Amino acid sequence: PDVPTIPFHDGHTIPQLGYGVFKVEPDIAADVTAQALAAGYRHIDTAKIYGNEEGVGRAIADSGIPREELFVTTKLWNDAHAFDDAIAACEASLERLGLDHVDLYLTHWAVPSQGQYVEAWKALIELQKRGLTRSIGVSNHPLPQLTEIIEATSVVPAIHQIELHPYFQQRELREAHGEHGILTQSWGPLGQGKSDLLENDAITSIAAAHDASPAQVVLAWHLAHGIVTIPKSVTPARIVENLAAAELTLTSEEIAAIDELDRPDGRGGADPAAKTA
Ligand code: NAD
Repeated sequence: PDVPTIPFHDGHTIPQLGYGVFKVEPDIAADVTAQALAAGYRHIDTAKIYGNEEGVGRAIADSGIPREELFVTTKLWNDAHAFDDAIAACEASLERLGLDHVDLYLTHWAVPSQGQYVEAWKALIELQKRGLTRSIGVSNHPLPQLTEIIEATSVVPAIHQIELHPYFQQRELREAHGEHGILTQSWGPLGQGKSDLLENDAITSIAAAHDASPAQVVLAWHLAHGIVTIPKSVTPARIVENLAAAELTLTSEEIAAIDELDRPDGRGGADPAAKTA
């Protein structure tokens, strides 16, 4: 499948649909990542805290795919926001991945109460300068903290990875991203199996109209909004199915119908404003 590549403000680009490996056990990480690469994914999203960077790295090495054709993201965990710790954490992630650079390094959570997100962001700026990561961004930063890191450094994150799905559409942050030229990346794009999203009548009727699956409809909705997304599955058929969502085009009426599903209580994961280390 042809996955669109979209530009960051820093001149680099990102494949709009990738493969996420949250909760993928270390012993199967290499196998499922290899399946994703064989299916055609060229963008992999891992994190230090997922404990599976080594397996991801092994699959990349064994794939024989040229490094420049791959887009690899990993993330700085909350216990390493201090400047020197963050530099060391990125180096350790690269070691586990078996790579000399990642394409994107993210501060995983702002953890406002810890008060070190600006320092962590300064470390990411340094990591980009040193070439350990091509691009830098953040994840799970409430708007005040997102604004603060930009004002403190004059460096705008390339992308912000946040919980986002039809039941939790993050309109306020998406609007702020648009103003700053930050791309929006959705985690939990399918709702993480925590709600009835994939059985929702609006979604299933659109799926039937396209002879597509509900998951494909939801992913096509993310793509239609210009959101970068990284669905996870360890089931071979679903790994393939999710990537094929790149070929599904929804009508503007269908997109509008899914836009209607936003809920004030739609958040499924932790609230970044209240997250503690
Ligand atoms: P997701 O919304 O991608 O849901 C994954 C689950 O949906 C699977 O475990 C499976 O149960 C189901 N599923 C997958 N494909 C399906 C299909 N085709 N049909 C039916 N059900 C299907 O949730 P996620 O894994 O939490 O999020 C995706 C990725 O985002 C993660 O793997 C990770 O890389 C990233 N993530 C980041 C953060 C963060 O804090 N930055 C948090 C969570 C996830």
